[in-house]
Amino acid sequence: MALLNFLGAIQHVTGSCYLIESRDGAKVLLECGMRQGRREEDEGNRGPFAFDPLSLDAVVVSHAHIDHTGLLPKLAAAGYRGPIYATDATCELMELMLLDSAYIQEKDAEWENRWRARAGKPPLSPLYTTADAEQALSQRRPVSYGELCEVAKGVHVTFHDAGHILGSAIVELHVHDHGLTRRLVFSGDLGNTCSPLMRDPSILTQADVVLLESTYGDRDHRCSEDTLDELADILQQAHRDGGNVLIPSFSVGRTQDLIYYLGRFYQEGRLPQQAVFLDSPMAIRANAIYSRFQDQFSPEDREAFQGRGKKRIEDWLPILRSTLTPDESMAINRIKSGAIIIAGSGMCTGGRIVHHFKHNLWRNDCHVVFPGFQAKGTLGRNIVDGAQSVKIFHQNVVVNAKVHTLGGFSAHAGQSQLIDWVRHFEHHPPLYLVHGELEKMQALQVALRQQLNWIATIPEPGEQIAL
Ligand code: ZN
Repeated sequence: MALLNFLGAIQHVTGSCYLIESRDGAKVLLECGMRQGRREEDEGNRGPFAFDPLSLDAVVVSHAHIDHTGLLPKLAAAGYRGPIYATDATCELMELMLLDSAYIQEKDAEWENRWRARAGKPPLSPLYTTADAEQALSQRRPVSYGELCEVAKGVHVTFHDAGHILGSAIVELHVHDHGLTRRLVFSGDLGNTCSPLMRDPSILTQADVVLLESTYGDRDHRCSEDTLDELADILQQAHRDGGNVLIPSFSVGRTQDLIYYLGRFYQEGRLPQQAVFLDSPMAIRANAIYSRFQDQFSPEDREAFQGRGKKRIEDWLPILRSTLTPDESMAINRIKSGAIIIAGSGMCTGGRIVHHFKHNLWRNDCHVVFPGFQAKGTLGRNIVDGAQSVKIFHQNVVVNAKVHTLGGFSAHAGQSQLIDWVRHFEHHPPLYLVHGELEKMQALQVALRQQLNWIATIPEPGEQIAL
């Protein structure tokens, strides 16, 4: 029988990685994600792979997020030269994500090596380089949704829309081994059916083994209409206060949703601000990719979008100004009121948002809106947790701005949505929970047992099962 190895994102939300081996000798890596968050994760990324990279026949990735693709350049650096299969849109977004990630790795190593040199320590090499990312990108093989593709001898893959971000996929693998075919379905990251632009996750009914993500296995999200009303109220209040509104946002997915929502406010006359700046080169490039793949939007949003003669994401919001160059970005610093500034990074660990904090955070009339999760130890989390002042570029900046957290914009399915998706599988095949913190998985495990009488397994890191 073929074997499935649980290598990454096991009782954890980042670092997705699974290995499928058939007795006929095929080896397929499903996901090659980077671990993110604390320092120990960084060390985990630096360790050797749990398999021989040269022994792989193919790599398959569900979507472009770094926690699913971020170690592909390291795999290339370790000598892997085989194909990397993903949907067309994922292949394009991966270019943005991996080149950006390589740039960050190089800059981090450069920074670290400065103090190492002063301390008389030998220099560190970056986790990987731009050249490694370019090598991995040259190995991409785009596949359309629904297409059946043989990725290795006896292993076929089909991507189905997961509705999480553009190009995101549920991965269905057929593994043919010694005359027996087994069907493995990996949910990937499942989208939130309340979020705009993306379609609902595809429903599948047949599988011999199912891997289900459990990021929000313990709870449901607030309805997005409530969150939208809250955002509209914040924008009105900011207008009355007379300051700017800062929104730290992830470049891919969250930013496009925000532009869509602000566009709706604009059409409805609920947007009092005069200008919205998108101050993120990566988000601006992601917008271009989203615009090119608008046939993959949900039918209603596509109709609303194209019906009004709109060709690009930016057309949705006529007062949106995309600032690509550093000069354009710095010019925003002169604006003291009436602007909404969307910038990365999403958790404020770097990027242009930090500069806007420096210029606005100390102002009483400024509002900061966090539309996404802020991990422990990040500047964003410190502000959300109510820090009186924060260190920005070695200076203390007092936090006088009003800080808001919006919980309803998640791109992940909540507990009920996960259960609704998985309930369609006939005959309750073996179900494994992955991509979630242990408590969240346990909560989902209980809910699955109570609602569907289905006993799900929480695998241990490194565990191997027969398919
Ligand atoms: Zn994701």
